[in-house]
Amino acid sequence: MNDIEISQAATAAPITEIADQLGLSADQIEPYGAVKAKIKLPVAGEVGDSKLILVTSINPTPAGEGKSTVTVGLGDALKRRGKKVAIALREPSLGPVMGMKGGATGGGYAQVIPMEDINLHFTGDMHALTEAHDTLSALIDNHIQQGNELNIDPRQVTWKRVIDINDRALRQTVIGLGGRTSGVPRQDGFDITVASELMAILCLSKDLGDLKERIKRIVIGYTYDKEPVTVADLKVAGAITLLLKDAIKPNLVQTLEHTPAIIHGGPFANIAHGCNSVLATQTALKLADYAVTEGGFGADLGGEKFMDIKTPVLGKTPNAVVVVATVRALKYNGGVDKKSLETENLAALAAGSVNLKRHVQSMKRYGVPVLVAVNRFTTDTDAEIDQLLAYIKDELGVPAFDTTVWANGGGGALDLADAVVEATQQPSDFVPLYAPDDDLVTKMTKIVQDIYGGRDVELEPKAKRQLKTFVKHGWDKLPVCMAKTQYSLSDNAKQLGAPTDFTIHVREFVPKLGAGFIVALTGNVLTMPGLPKHPAALNMDIDADGTITGLF
Ligand code: ADP
Repeated sequence: MNDIEISQAATAAPITEIADQLGLSADQIEPYGAVKAKIKLPVAGEVGDSKLILVTSINPTPAGEGKSTVTVGLGDALKRRGKKVAIALREPSLGPVMGMKGGATGGGYAQVIPMEDINLHFTGDMHALTEAHDTLSALIDNHIQQGNELNIDPRQVTWKRVIDINDRALRQTVIGLGGRTSGVPRQDGFDITVASELMAILCLSKDLGDLKERIKRIVIGYTYDKEPVTVADLKVAGAITLLLKDAIKPNLVQTLEHTPAIIHGGPFANIAHGCNSVLATQTALKLADYAVTEGGFGADLGGEKFMDIKTPVLGKTPNAVVVVATVRALKYNGGVDKKSLETENLAALAAGSVNLKRHVQSMKRYGVPVLVAVNRFTTDTDAEIDQLLAYIKDELGVPAFDTTVWANGGGGALDLADAVVEATQQPSDFVPLYAPDDDLVTKMTKIVQDIYGGRDVELEPKAKRQLKTFVKHGWDKLPVCMAKTQYSLSDNAKQLGAPTDFTIHVREFVPKLGAGFIVALTGNVLTMPGLPKHPAALNMDIDADGTITGLF
């Protein structure tokens, strides 16, 4: 059976029962139908001594390496071991769902359900974010049209529009054509919704008040005198916050094994900070003894950003990190063509294992216990799995587990769960990567050297010019959010394995003052992806009776 068939064959427990597992009564949730709910804020309780487990991975193949699958399976395994557990995940974006990578609800027998709802419109958070973002765009253009009291330079509006689908034709647009009554013409463009600063803000806000304060700080562009213009200047923070009043509440669903899963916020890790909301993780920690969460793409992206951007806001560092590896992605990193990943190739596996080594080392440097989950595919051979497990134990010196949650649900990760419980009992001594008052270049250099294994950072002329203005505005010490390809540790998607001695090229910065970080666009990474030649949408269908096919 494929993912959608397994999901549809499952019987979900009423959402009130899932809430009850977490000690939430019926009046502490807002049901969206029978099996989905929003959790009312504020959530009472303390983060206390609950254990936080971060799941991250090696550099993936384009199909993903099963981080969400392992996150869900590990949550189920902990529950099978009698632990009080909650999973915290990101909300899927329609970009990858209709495009190439697929949904974000796990796979096989380690899924959150109802997968079709979660992968499509869910509780409407993505739409609320899109509408809120574009409302701000409309208010900016209206301000310019109605006399431009703030003296906004239309050539320097940096707040683009968004839509939650991969639509490359919208990357560069011209708006305001049609004469005096149709706006002031200017160049514009679209990003995908998950790259919106509002998404980052939603994911980093502690409550509605914090959300509004952050929205006020958003810089939407510059005046003719090159001074930043904020949402506070436009006096529309109240309206934008209002549009997000429900989106800020975490969503509660369940796994196939009825483990509570809190799914909330969904920034990509290559072009944004890649972690589900602080509110979701905090809620999981407050209501359960074990919170299992993930950072998007590899440890170089979602892992690093979890540690350096999310944990300072969360106020809690992970008690253990699980790095997900697959035989096929390591073979891919060892030079095997995408089409030949299902054939046994021990030499390529050995060659590609350096990629895992780099990610394990970079996570270890944070001073947190690291474990490796080998997410087994049916095409992996025993010889490959044995070779990889031996390499991890002998060469990397960390515990490694053959994990079969895709085929067996929580039963496929019981050993991993036991080891995770043990690891979370060790005292962990978190070592941050950079100091808050390091300047931007120092911060980026530390990321490149200690996490990516590269040599240095080079700023292209535009980025250099921007840096000067950041010093003037006092923005040069903010945390940095690297926007980089997920396929390589470098900024060149074709450099697989564990390249060394490379330079990361920063072409442009995007200040996100509301989120509280500066995005550094490296290489040729794009904030509006395109669809592939054969988008997943071509395989999808729904019958007259409502039966869905092709949704993975
Ligand atoms: P990631 O979180 O790393 O992006 P996912 O957990 O979303 O990856 O999995 C990506 C896809 O791979 C899903 O469609 C899932 O069903 C599939 N998948 C994951 N693990 C396995 C496995 N062990 N065997 C077969 N398919 C798998």
